[in-house]
Amino acid sequence: MKSISDFNFENKKVLVRVDFNVPQDENLNVTDNTRIVAVKPTLDLILNEGGSVILMTHLGRPKGEKNEKYSLRNILPEIEKVLGKKVKFAEDALGEKTQQMVNQLKPGEILLLENLRFYKEEEKGDKDFAEKLSKYGDVYVNDAFGTAHREHASTAVIAQFFPSTKFFGLLMEKELKAIDKVLNSGEKPITAILGGSKVSTKITIIENILPAIDNLIIGGGMAFTFIKAQGGKIGKSLIENDKMQLALEILEKAKANNVKVYLPVDTFIAKEFNNEAEQREVNIYKIPEEWMGLDAGSKTQLLFNDAIINSKTILWNGPIGVFEMENFSKGTVALGESIAKATKLGAFSLVGGGDSIAFVKQFGYEDKVSYVSTGGGAMLESLEGLELPGVAAITK
Ligand code: AMP
Repeated sequence: MKSISDFNFENKKVLVRVDFNVPQDENLNVTDNTRIVAVKPTLDLILNEGGSVILMTHLGRPKGEKNEKYSLRNILPEIEKVLGKKVKFAEDALGEKTQQMVNQLKPGEILLLENLRFYKEEEKGDKDFAEKLSKYGDVYVNDAFGTAHREHASTAVIAQFFPSTKFFGLLMEKELKAIDKVLNSGEKPITAILGGSKVSTKITIIENILPAIDNLIIGGGMAFTFIKAQGGKIGKSLIENDKMQLALEILEKAKANNVKVYLPVDTFIAKEFNNEAEQREVNIYKIPEEWMGLDAGSKTQLLFNDAIINSKTILWNGPIGVFEMENFSKGTVALGESIAKATKLGAFSLVGGGDSIAFVKQFGYEDKVSYVSTGGGAMLESLEGLELPGVAAITK
């Protein structure tokens, strides 16, 4: 795979697809600039070599229509702040005026195109639209990992117009390497920790990663479907009754793959889904009828810790308790501690998926794990073994 580090960008106009789909507050100010910070190394590399950058991104879901609320003008100040330089802005992704701005762009300069999703052609993956955009650049760089699972005009379709000058950006490279490390080239033992609320959304991931891993830790709300399937009494804890059979099948498949499965053994329970609710700690197979399990118990924390500490590669997706309520965050905090310790001891740890990312940021574990993925859906789909259109468009 050709890397942008090996290419000479001098005097090249470089079309860079990024994912600046950042969260905003009610005044449209950016509340989390992680995704902008994440692509700075790619942009710096191109600009420092004397290339110019035409930035393409989407923001929100304007559904193919112009809508001021989703204008990139609103996030322009934050982009300029993070990149530390002036960014020119084209009010429309297409048109005469934009073409002129592209023509006048000098080495070291950046031009940001207005929200691509103001055109319905973007999400449709329209070839003509992609071709028009492609005319702006000599080179195409895709650094939008967060959108790599979409086959849109600017994320995938456009690549065909750059048969020998298409590249992954540095962020994409890092993300793909991190996933490859877990699934294909990770040092053993490899431990996957899956939590969150539902089994149903994690089934394909579990089935895909079983051949690659040594240990599977299952926690959070989804664990109760396994516990009940094994005859446990789970009170009014989260349950997917129609997935119990599947849960038993997963346990069988794990055995067949020589994967050791760790399920919680105890849990903190409450009668209400409420931070202030009275808590008790009980055997997870013996939850009283009116109660529900909301966090991993102390014995579970120790059990999970033993598996994690002895691992060389760790994948974590999904909290193992309702960490959004402080009084039920202990289990997930203990898990974060175990992963941080293992990482310090030399393990490679990859954290991904919306809620786990929120957790590591909120609780200060971002710098204590090896890699935090920026792409929720894209990372989950690659763990499911699916080929990402944005990736295939570059590699094929
Ligand atoms: P998911 O989107 O499936 O990854 O689920 C993430 C959510 O699962 C988080 O918001 C957690 O609060 C929630 N969660 C974790 N453990 C439990 C539990 N024992 N009961 C209910 N929800 C939980």
